[in-house]
Amino acid sequence: MDKRHFLQIGAVLLGTAFFSRYINGSSETMASADTKFEVTKTEAEWKSILTPDQFQVLRKHGTERAHTSPLDKTYEPGTYVCAGCGQALFTSDTKYNSGTGWPSFFTPIEGAIGTTVDRSLFMTRTEVHCSRCGGHLGHVFNDGPKPTGLRYCMNGVSLKFEPA
Ligand code: FE
Repeated sequence: MDKRHFLQIGAVLLGTAFFSRYINGSSETMASADTKFEVTKTEAEWKSILTPDQFQVLRKHGTERAHTSPLDKTYEPGTYVCAGCGQALFTSDTKYNSGTGWPSFFTPIEGAIGTTVDRSLFMTRTEVHCSRCGGHLGHVFNDGPKPTGLRYCMNGVSLKFEPA
């Protein structure tokens, strides 16, 4: 390999590194679009197993209208699982009434969720998704109760409640 060839390859590698960084930076807002999840389905497959509301929130980052989920008012003992893949996400002893109209929790089950930076709607928020299927669940904010100070603001339509 002569020196000129070597420099050309170097320039290509640098350019690739620069652009991949740029692309990764922007895909951060797209929440997990290219992340590999244990449960992966095509859009048509998701549509066939989810209701239209579930599909819109879990797969299209939608937000249900506040005060529409029956789970907002659920406080019985049990587990909240992902409506997409069934992974256990939250337990009832971490649920509290945030007054927002969305089911709220102060901590998830360890390892059950992933987060991305969401810069949509002129805000910077932390998006929350299921770590197993990538389904969008909601956002996490810093105004929650003790002991974590976190508020996991979840779309009830993304969850299924399994009584203990
Ligand atoms: Fe899931």
